[in-house]
Amino acid sequence: MASDSSDRDSVAWLAAATGDDPADVAADLEKGARRRVFVVDELLDAGFRDGELQELVIRLTGLDSGQARDLIRAREALLEPSPAPVPRRDRRLAENEVRFRQANEERVRAQTGESLPEWFEILCECADRDCRQPLTIAAAEYAWLRERRSCFAVLPGHEAPAVEDVVERFPGYVIVEKHVETRLELEDVDPK
Ligand SMILES: [Zn+2]
Repeated sequence: MASDSSDRDSVAWLAAATGDDPADVAADLEKGARRRVFVVDELLDAGFRDGELQELVIRLTGLDSGQARDLIRAREALLEPSPAPVPRRDRRLAENEVRFRQANEERVRAQTGESLPEWFEILCECADRDCRQPLTIAAAEYAWLRERRSCFAVLPGHEAPAVEDVVERFPGYVIVEKHVETRLELEDVDPK
């Protein structure tokens, strides 16, 4: 995406307009593009489509409707055709998941410098929307976790057995897996 000629034009234009180093400008644009792709992928995974998806993408990324439509089309084209339609997750829950995943992705990136650390500090990903407690997770485990979109890392005691299964317990955190059907029920089970 960064090699796109229109991106190169905007890098040059922005660098000239702001007096910033073109390399810094390019890095910032790249980061923004990655974040937008991440948001669209999460919402697609949560089962959003069409107008509602577009509206959420515009709200969460700040893209205009034409840009949002193009990005959605590009990401949808990469989706495996699935035999059964994905049941739609609760809208508020999906937005919440997008936000805390995004926050944790950004935290992890900030902790990754020259060399990959062995441990990351992330925020608890439990169902409590107000929980902001940190937990420490092995870097390899975090990478594994991010490939499984239904799995989350929560602090011991923050599991919600009614809506998720415990996959594995570690000292300091627990990996839980939410099932599609429990995701749909979360709105009723969740006391908030
Ligand atoms: Zn928590």
